[in-house]
Amino acid sequence: MTAWRVPLLSAVTIIERLEMDRETAMNTAAEETSAISRKTVLMRDAAVSLSLANLCFLKVWSAYLSDYGEFRVLMRKLPTPAQYLSTATDILILAALCLVCISWSRRRSSLALDRAFLIASVLLLGIILNGLRTALAASNIWIANRTWVGGCAALALFYVAVGWKWPARLFFIIRVALVCCLPFCAVTFGQTLWRVAAYDGHALEDSPPAPMLADARTSPRIVWIIFDAWDYRLAFVNRPRDLELPAADRIRAEFLSATDAHSPGPNTILSMPELMTGRIMRDPSKKQESNEQHARYLASIPLRKVPSIFDTLHERAYNISVIGWHIPYGRWFPALFADCIWWAVPTELTSTGRTFSECLWRKPISLLETGNYGPFGQSRDARRKTEIYFEMMAHLRQVLDNQALGFLFLHIPFPHPLHPYDRLTGRFDFHGPPGEGYVNSLALTDKILSDIRDQMERNGSWDKSVVVLSADHSSPQAVDVDGKSDPRVPFLLKLPGKPHPAVFTSRLNTIVTANLLLNVADGKIATTEQACFWLQEHGQDLEEPLQP
Ligand SMILES: [Zn+2]
Repeated sequence: MTAWRVPLLSAVTIIERLEMDRETAMNTAAEETSAISRKTVLMRDAAVSLSLANLCFLKVWSAYLSDYGEFRVLMRKLPTPAQYLSTATDILILAALCLVCISWSRRRSSLALDRAFLIASVLLLGIILNGLRTALAASNIWIANRTWVGGCAALALFYVAVGWKWPARLFFIIRVALVCCLPFCAVTFGQTLWRVAAYDGHALEDSPPAPMLADARTSPRIVWIIFDAWDYRLAFVNRPRDLELPAADRIRAEFLSATDAHSPGPNTILSMPELMTGRIMRDPSKKQESNEQHARYLASIPLRKVPSIFDTLHERAYNISVIGWHIPYGRWFPALFADCIWWAVPTELTSTGRTFSECLWRKPISLLETGNYGPFGQSRDARRKTEIYFEMMAHLRQVLDNQALGFLFLHIPFPHPLHPYDRLTGRFDFHGPPGEGYVNSLALTDKILSDIRDQMERNGSWDKSVVVLSADHSSPQAVDVDGKSDPRVPFLLKLPGKPHPAVFTSRLNTIVTANLLLNVADGKIATTEQACFWLQEHGQDLEEPLQP
């Protein structure tokens, strides 16, 4: 017998037995117990319950089982054994609860009870669909919020309508489907045991920091700030009427400001390496659409083999500090950063805790969460983003005051989703729609900008510094704000000395920024006029590779 026929025949046998079970159920309870032993029924119900509970945790598994292959490059740390074991424990607890309910319903079979179970099962259906959406999103199969909610509501109504009329038949079909999904339990529990046994606590650790150079260059101090997904149009052209951005407006009135600046790529992973190197890193003939493709690309690029702004400024005796997220800065540039802190994008891996007890209660709640939303207000992911904000600001204050750090590279995780900030109250408890959330995050971006400037003015470094503000890409969520989108990003530059406002209206490809700053460090650009002249010459270049 060929190997593939074994599981097929097994599945057929199970379905035949379930069909027998269904037919038997249509007879009297006494006939059922005589046909199938109670022990067999219990085992079968246990298998169905386990499969159901396992599927409910699809959202967790889609994150946990991604710690190899493409997504490993984006991870801050591997999931701990406690994270895996707590999930397995949660599943066993949920499976036990399901088994108790099923066993109880067998003894008290009635149409009213079937319908009560039907309504209750809609919640589990919603949890599984939410997990499915997360898993699809990882493969870049994005479904618009309204489409998804409408589709799920229609499916739930159809499910209830069918179940209301034919509950026994519907439950039979569900049981067959759950039995078919049973092998997924072997995958998840098998992976759990293997990951726990093979756990390496030192994997994915950052490189040790580079020693601080005693005779480092500190002048001109260079501060390059990239606000993630900072949308030029919404920040400066079509700003929502009730949104005030005083810090950005003040800076725009004092800096060289571009009106037609374009980032190298449409997202963080494609843009950031090219901004750091001034070089087109990707093969334009290859499509980079799904998250997997992006992660695979990021893992494949020879970033350490081409000069980056970090290599070139380190060679010029700058002590470098990096504050970033999403890109594994701490692992990618060994022996270059005197100081580095970075965070992964909040997901199940980072936002539901690291210890067994934390995960045990947070994960089941997270199954009901999506985006900013959660059953008890904010989602865990949004709360994690708030934690990142406060950790980042605390570290940022130290870095800004440490004048021995001559080059600061700040890749700020705002106004990129998630959006925990409420601009109307100043609290970090927002859990509304993404468009409104993005507007709130624009306000938070302005607050961060204001705090950075205040700190630098207090310690006397603002006037002496070169400051560049831009974004790695515009915001896809602009569509949620006013239905429009625009690829332009802000580009604002100041050189040491008194404010010298200027408007740069020609097209500017921000991929040239690294080379511009290198020219500033080398003293070739010292005034705004010189910067304008350089940008007129080089701003439309498709790339400006850095030379060592
Ligand atoms: Zn980004």
